[in-house]
Amino acid sequence: MLGVERTASVEEIKASYRKAALKWHPDRNPENKQEAEAKFRECTEAYSVLSDQEKRQIYDTYGHAGLSNVGGGVDFNGTVFQDFHDIFGDFFGFEDLFGGGRRGRNRAQRGSDLRYDMTLTFEEAAAGVSTKIKLPKQELCGICHGTGAKAGTGATSCQACGGRGQLAYQQGFFTITRTCPACQGAGQVIKERCTECRGQGRLEKEKTIELRVPAGVDTGTRLRVPGEGEAGANGGPTGDLYVVLEVKEHSFFERRGADLYCTIPVSIAQAALGAELSVPGLSGDEKLKIPEGTQGGAVFRIKGHGLPDPRGGGKGDLYYHVRVVTPTKLNRDQRKLMEQLGVTLKVDNKPAERGSSFFDKVKDIFG
Ligand SMILES: [Zn+2]
Ligand SMILES: [Zn+2]
Repeated sequence: MLGVERTASVEEIKASYRKAALKWHPDRNPENKQEAEAKFRECTEAYSVLSDQEKRQIYDTYGHAGLSNVGGGVDFNGTVFQDFHDIFGDFFGFEDLFGGGRRGRNRAQRGSDLRYDMTLTFEEAAAGVSTKIKLPKQELCGICHGTGAKAGTGATSCQACGGRGQLAYQQGFFTITRTCPACQGAGQVIKERCTECRGQGRLEKEKTIELRVPAGVDTGTRLRVPGEGEAGANGGPTGDLYVVLEVKEHSFFERRGADLYCTIPVSIAQAALGAELSVPGLSGDEKLKIPEGTQGGAVFRIKGHGLPDPRGGGKGDLYYHVRVVTPTKLNRDQRKLMEQLGVTLKVDNKPAERGSSFFDKVKDIFG
């Protein structure tokens, strides 16, 4: 069952049992729990026999049947339970399997990371902003410097658990380890607590943090502020602060990464004759020249006038999408001019006739 030679030493048996027990532990075999349970029992039975000198001798002499004649077969009392803890006590996570807490004796723990959600206007995100944020967090106690003990005193070993941080109970088949309630697993207790932090070593304080948001950030941008999370326990390092940004949309510009898009209306006269327009830009008005004969839907780009890259790369571009506004509510004079214009303007608009330019365009669009 354990795969050891007849001549195996106690250490070899122990090692084989440890391996087999971990393999067949029911919690590690959720697929075939029953088979695992049976195997686990068999391994433990084998180990209890082999680790007991007297039983081993009987087994070696008479085989498995021999044990049935010795006081009702194999019992699970005795050394096996002590050994269980010795074998597995140091195995990472084993206590978790058995429902106990892990050994937390004075282990340095990194402080928690913190998340702070911040909303920016489009303009703030575009230009960057320096701001201050206030947040409550666990800071190291300045009086005891995190030990939790009154100034001039220290911690002493916990008497309830002998400084081990946990207590072992025997429950049926298993030894169950639990976090010591007297010291909460620390293995040490403080006789005289620091009055400032009441022995916690850390204090909740509201801290003001200066934050520099680079230009060009977008919704979802995460700014890491190292060392501004919570203080660690038992001398562990401080966590980090993550500021997660949400940028409000602009009423005029649509953002796509670092590029900006917008639509500008032009009159039919401007579109036909060409014009120099003054249009809204990110920082003040932009001059945009549209050529004579500009069609509706035409797009003009001003390179490098989009948003900056917060990582220091180049700038995006600014795109103007032209919408030609068909005049409505013409007055008498305008109407007359339009009629005169209409007579002189020739537009090929017979799509049904093959060879016409309109037909070719339709064909281009719809394939
Ligand atoms: Zn303190
Ligand atoms: Zn204790």
